[in-house]
Amino acid sequence: MYDIIIIGSGPAGLTAAIYASRAGLRAVVVEKDTMGAGQISVTEQVDNYPGLPHIGGYELGEAFREHAQGMGAGFCENEVEAIAADAAGFHLAMTDGTALSGKSVIYAAGTSYRRLSVPGSQLPGVSYCATCDGAFYAGKTVAVIGGGDTALEDALYLSHIAKQVYLVHRRDTFRANASLQAAAAQTENITPVLCAVPTEVVGEKRVEALKLLRNEKEETLVLDGIFAAIGSIPNTDLLKGLADLDASGYVIAGEDGLTSRPGLFAAGDVRTKPLRQVVTAVADGANCVASAEKYLLGMVMK
Ligand code: NAP
Repeated sequence: MYDIIIIGSGPAGLTAAIYASRAGLRAVVVEKDTMGAGQISVTEQVDNYPGLPHIGGYELGEAFREHAQGMGAGFCENEVEAIAADAAGFHLAMTDGTALSGKSVIYAAGTSYRRLSVPGSQLPGVSYCATCDGAFYAGKTVAVIGGGDTALEDALYLSHIAKQVYLVHRRDTFRANASLQAAAAQTENITPVLCAVPTEVVGEKRVEALKLLRNEKEETLVLDGIFAAIGSIPNTDLLKGLADLDASGYVIAGEDGLTSRPGLFAAGDVRTKPLRQVVTAVADGANCVASAEKYLLGMVMK
């Protein structure tokens, strides 16, 4: 039986692995993706991680992973199908039929892209990852849908590749941070299309146009590709019935990672928190190990 099973190998999970290894705990990271490092791997550039300005997201993820491996962290490439809890601890059933047990669990499974759900949104040419698919649109016209940090970062990234980037947002103000808004406003080939609600993706074999409802009128943008950046959904299905989730499905947990289930800790983007960034994810990973250590020692927890 492990002391800690860490579920997820993004920045939060990998940091938990580093801290658990340093603390001499018997820990394992269960990861769905081979040699994963979470969504940070598909982020082009990270400008706000202290001490490492302008580092590539992939490079940062790899550095986290190498650090965890170098500390001796163990990894198990498998997908968790179910988690059961009893007096002994937590019992994980994997999709390949194997099982793992641990006295505690640090849940750091991250989030998944929210999918666009209008007619035609399954057509080829609708993407959720600008850094993965952007290169296909050199000299072409694309739309980014959304008004958050991801949408504006994607629009800026694509502005270096595509001829024209429409930034389609359903309200008249963006929720992205001010520096991203300023950068987008100064970029000639980014055109904001505000108060515009996507209603249909049009195309025969692949994306040809995006229909919008704008000020109660229908408009059509003719384009080659669509990048939807409309937020994320927490990967918390496994925790239903095991720990309290908020109305949006995030695990209710404070900075110490404590959930409503003793011995189960939540770290990173899955947790209720005001700021979802790499720097807060890594802090969560460290805090969860500190909380788990107290739990394993039988110290009183709230
Ligand atoms: P987000 O902040 O939740 O923004 C999602 C955007 O999509 C919102 O503008 C929302 O509109 C819009 N939207 C949602 N559903 C929609 C729909 N069905 N149709 C059209 N538009 C829709 O998501 P995010 O940008 O991915 O960011 C997630 C978290 O990661 C945030 O905490 C963010 O700060 C963080 N993040 C940080 C960085 C960074 O610091 N560099 C980079 C990326 C992400 P409304 O505004 O009207 O709700």
